[in-house]
Amino acid sequence: MQLTEQQQNWRDVARDFAKRKLEPATEWLEGDYFWNNAKKLADHGFLGLTLPEEYGGMNLSIFDACLIIEELCRVCPTSGRHAYHASMGIASFINQLGNEEQKKQYLPMITSGKLFVGLGMSEPEAGSAATDISTTAVEEGDFYRLNGSKVFISEAHLADLFVVYARFGNTGRTSDIGAILVERGTPGFTVGPNEENMSGEVQCALYFEDAMVPKENVLATNNAFKKLMGVYNGVRLGFLSQTMGITQAAFDRTMEHVKQRKQFGKEICEFQGLQWMISDMYVQLEAARTILYRAAEAASDNKPDKNAVSVAKIFVAEAAQKITDTCIQLHGGYGYSKQYPLEWYYRCVRAASIAGGTLQVHKTMLASSVLERKFDQRK
Ligand SMILES: Cc1cc2nc3c(=O)[nH]c(=O)nc-3n(C[C@H](O)[C@H](O)[C@H](O)COP(=O)(O)OP(=O)(O)OC[C@H]3O[C@@H](n4cnc5c(N)ncnc54)[C@H](O)[C@@H]3O)c2cc1C
Repeated sequence: MQLTEQQQNWRDVARDFAKRKLEPATEWLEGDYFWNNAKKLADHGFLGLTLPEEYGGMNLSIFDACLIIEELCRVCPTSGRHAYHASMGIASFINQLGNEEQKKQYLPMITSGKLFVGLGMSEPEAGSAATDISTTAVEEGDFYRLNGSKVFISEAHLADLFVVYARFGNTGRTSDIGAILVERGTPGFTVGPNEENMSGEVQCALYFEDAMVPKENVLATNNAFKKLMGVYNGVRLGFLSQTMGITQAAFDRTMEHVKQRKQFGKEICEFQGLQWMISDMYVQLEAARTILYRAAEAASDNKPDKNAVSVAKIFVAEAAQKITDTCIQLHGGYGYSKQYPLEWYYRCVRAASIAGGTLQVHKTMLASSVLERKFDQRK
């Protein structure tokens, strides 16, 4: 897909920044390295890509933001992921659903790198079945009383603010579901211990036990689920750009390796069997990128096309898994070794088939749209 001059410019700016300011990462990074990079990202405006300029953002389209996230993740997935979270991930909920006060209070702190935000949606008994969440928000004077728990919350160990999905009514219907902002330190609210996932990224559980949250923190209540999922579709594209960048990094390293590694007296890229594997990977990469960019283009007016997002999600996640697996194969024992980053790239992109809705759930939604039938997931 042909990029406009402006889009190419954003891609080049991010590529140049990543090369000069970030070190190529080979594992998930925490501590000083993470904080130093977070500061560099904030100084260059990369923590507010899609957020309005008045709050320190760059006001870019989702497409432009995706191009930037991809380039950052190609060099340092941790930094790219952070830029995605701040710029077009969880902050989008505040930007698109929040009132003026909430935006003024939180967005400048996010774009300047002083505030990290987590998204509390998944629950122990409600993952794919997101409409089954049972965390409740019961009105009491000037507060909502929150009870329930969340699991798998990315960057929760760093976050001081959480967008929390909860039930504001008791009809048992989806229309009860809304979202509220909960600050760390709210009595009755605790962040669980750090849990490392397959890529090395930290996730935590969240616990609400009679946590009293001021009413002014509400983001959305009645009949908000569709709106919430609309914002979430844009968020998904950022996650896929991250996957695309990591997959490209694995491919780049593999191309260097096959041109330099010799067996049987010649570079291994001279073997025709490997050339075909390389061509297949390249076709998958090009197709995945084109499908992702089409979905990002459609989403750029902040109204993502649900089907285009699901198509991108399915294709990019499956291609990334296949490509990084082939990259390991082409590295032989070095691909399987923890001394080289190939196995880590594979572990990182594996998340795309699960986070943001599993592939099976996206395939069901897509089939429902294609067949124009609603499939009941319950007995
Ligand atoms: C890296 C990562 C980061 C995450 N970050 C966050 C976060 O920041 N905030 C947050 O709230 N959550 C987060 N999650 C959680 C994520 O959204 C859930 O893991 C995901 O929605 C799946 O839910 P589950 O894990 O409960 O799996 P389950 O829903 O239990 O699914 C198990 C299996 O059953 C299949 N399945 C379930 N229902 C159906 C069906 N109807 N038809 C066919 N197959 C079905 C699934 O596809 C899957 O294969 C993250 C997850 C990962 C991996």
